[in-house]
Amino acid sequence: MPNCPKCGNKESLPTRTFSVIVEPSKGERGMTERRVGMYTCSSCGTKFPTVISKQRYLVVAEEQLKSIQDELATVKKGNDELSAKVRGMADQQRELQQSMDRAAKENEVSNLRTKLEQLESFVKHLRKEKSELEEKVSRI
Ligand SMILES: [Zn+2]
Repeated sequence: MPNCPKCGNKESLPTRTFSVIVEPSKGERGMTERRVGMYTCSSCGTKFPTVISKQRYLVVAEEQLKSIQDELATVKKGNDELSAKVRGMADQQRELQQSMDRAAKENEVSNLRTKLEQLESFVKHLRKEKSELEEKVSRI
């Protein structure tokens, strides 16, 4: 929202808009289209213009534009292929993670089995000791 240059009042809507094409100044390339809004201050009545937006246009030879567009299409194709590869890799990673989880579970099961076997042999040992003790006690 531009301010009135005389009283500083803010104006939100232009009374009219138009475009002007500005020739390039020295050292610049291309044309600039300026969208200008004419405002009338609702407080003091001053009319003032403000540039609303600017659009630069470069003059490019048709062949050059075509080659830029072709290059862009090639880059886009390469980018699409790369995206597909990345997706494929993400899938593979997920599968790998799943088989790692499975392997971890299998490993856990086998650890538990080993522990169970150890416990069973310990129980066997204790039973043997118990019966030996009972035998000793019975002899007393
Ligand atoms: Zn004003």
